[in-house]
Amino acid sequence: MFSEPIPERVSAVRFVDAGERLAGALDPAHYKRLAEIATLLPGGTAELQGSRDPFGPQVVRGTLQCEVRLTCQRCLQPVDVVLSGDIRWGLARNEKAAGQLDRELDPIVLDDGELWLRQAIEDELLLLVPIMPMHDMCDTGWTSDPEPESAPARVSPFGVLSALKTEQGPKGE
Ligand SMILES: [Zn+2]
Repeated sequence: MFSEPIPERVSAVRFVDAGERLAGALDPAHYKRLAEIATLLPGGTAELQGSRDPFGPQVVRGTLQCEVRLTCQRCLQPVDVVLSGDIRWGLARNEKAAGQLDRELDPIVLDDGELWLRQAIEDELLLLVPIMPMHDMCDTGWTSDPEPESAPARVSPFGVLSALKTEQGPKGE
């Protein structure tokens, strides 16, 4: 479904005014700036939809989803982090027009009517990369039992009771 990579650029008029929809793969080879700080893993996707309100700005909305490999800042081992974000671009013909867009829109200045998609997507991805990536739980060398007991160890209610009694013992004089 997402086998085709995101095109480098599209015509803003065609994409937005026609309300086109585009879904594509994030090919790691296409995102060189991101590669300087993170390893983009295969399987990332972007979905984009152009739209335009009457007399309103040209807007592209969508979502990004991918996984990057970073270095855990706690144990210094590789850690895979999911990057997921929403796109809400307001397209502008020039910097001046960009300054007049709704503040909820991230301005993208068009290049002669062309929207440089990969560049804009890469900007979003760079913002999503965590500054301090870490494992939820670092592997400290302890390995879990490959076949853990399915049933949790049963605790005797009497054992719990006696433990409570012991705890309360010194206080309850
Ligand atoms: Zn770690």
